[in-house]
Amino acid sequence: MSPAAPPWLSLDHVWLPYTQMANAPLPLPVVSADGVRLELADGRTLIDGISSWWTACHGYSHPHIRAALAAQLDRLPHVMFAGLAHEPAYTLAARLASLLPGDNERQLNHVFFSESGSVAVEIALKMAVQFWRNRGQDRHRFIAFSHGYHGDTLGALSVTDPATGFHDAVAAWRVPQTFAALPRTEPERAAFDHLLAAQRHDTAAVIVEPLVQGAGGMRFHDAATLAFIRAACDRHDVLLIADEIMTGFGRTGRLFACAGDDKCGGSVPDLMCLSKALTGGTLPLAATVATTRVFDAFRSTRNEGAFMHGPTFMANPLACAAANASLDLFEREPRLAQVAAIEAQLHRELAPCRALPGVVDVRVKGAIGVVQLDTMAASALRPAFVERGVWVRPFGNIVYLAPPFIIDKADLARLTTAVCEVIATWSKGFPHD
Ligand SMILES: *Cc1c(COP(=O)(O)O)cnc(C)c1O
Repeated sequence: MSPAAPPWLSLDHVWLPYTQMANAPLPLPVVSADGVRLELADGRTLIDGISSWWTACHGYSHPHIRAALAAQLDRLPHVMFAGLAHEPAYTLAARLASLLPGDNERQLNHVFFSESGSVAVEIALKMAVQFWRNRGQDRHRFIAFSHGYHGDTLGALSVTDPATGFHDAVAAWRVPQTFAALPRTEPERAAFDHLLAAQRHDTAAVIVEPLVQGAGGMRFHDAATLAFIRAACDRHDVLLIADEIMTGFGRTGRLFACAGDDKCGGSVPDLMCLSKALTGGTLPLAATVATTRVFDAFRSTRNEGAFMHGPTFMANPLACAAANASLDLFEREPRLAQVAAIEAQLHRELAPCRALPGVVDVRVKGAIGVVQLDTMAASALRPAFVERGVWVRPFGNIVYLAPPFIIDKADLARLTTAVCEVIATWSKGFPHD
């Protein structure tokens, strides 16, 4: 860090995420953020190319969200959610229910709040197991997909593909689950169908990240693949959990990835997990949303039929107020059109990377642009981005952009230019050993 490093910045007491602390460089001190820009303690600014882990969809410090938070802070920053009710959560639940994809058979109508994506996944897994138990069946296994990622807590980890490397250290603990290839080709579809037929009696649910697998490598599939998974789950009477924690709220071009794409209609899951952009990136909040069929299995005259879960800070009023304000912005501002414009620009401006030695693939979906390299050490490129005034955080073999939707053309061009330049420089030294 430069001499301007603030006195509080030390690693004596803070343990960083996904970091070998023995040789961790000091993180960059951020003192404020506005729009797409992060301001550092030494006065530099960085354009954020990844929206703070895909959360800040409206950019930072949006005045409408700030005003909603300030008003809520005055009235009621927090109150417990059992026995007491507050307006922001009840309004938010009703708004989510009306926005989420649904069809004649399935409506995602019942919202259970929590505070992080991983916990929303834990809740979905528990709901799926208890759904069957409440109907007199013992089904406690899950089928997940290769390259899938669903969170860092133990249950969510168990349905995260071990090959992603997120849980090598606790592998001894992990509950074994079944991992399948995403059923894209005919042979994969037949194999997936056979798997469900063979395991349906103890499988509670299939869990999938619709259209985009995020932390497992930013891999895309299409709505037809998702529709096949939905239909297979129906054929074999297994629940489907859609983890829209990354894809929800516009990132793939639709408000929700389960709403389908241009070529194929939607696929409504039985349970959906939301978090990340739910509050527009301002406060932690998550939701697990169940269809009426799932919800009804918990309605009973017996107490043990109830869902026994209740995070202390669930449905925090400030977080719910931020989420309602974020939904206002999706209603009032042309967010999905902005995503479409970002998509077109990413296509155009990342395409030249395709010709560079060492680049394996360039792909774009919605406001996500990915350049895949022929090395698992893409994280070594991180400092080069900061030098160019942008915040981009490559991982594994992936350099990706997932900017705030409000980014303008010039700032997005700075991001894509940085990606092309950094990769071109790296590429000159290719092949690396
Ligand atoms: C980030 C993410 C999670 C975990 O959310 P946290 O809030 O980090 O616990 C789960 N699933 C997907 C698809 C994610 O992108």
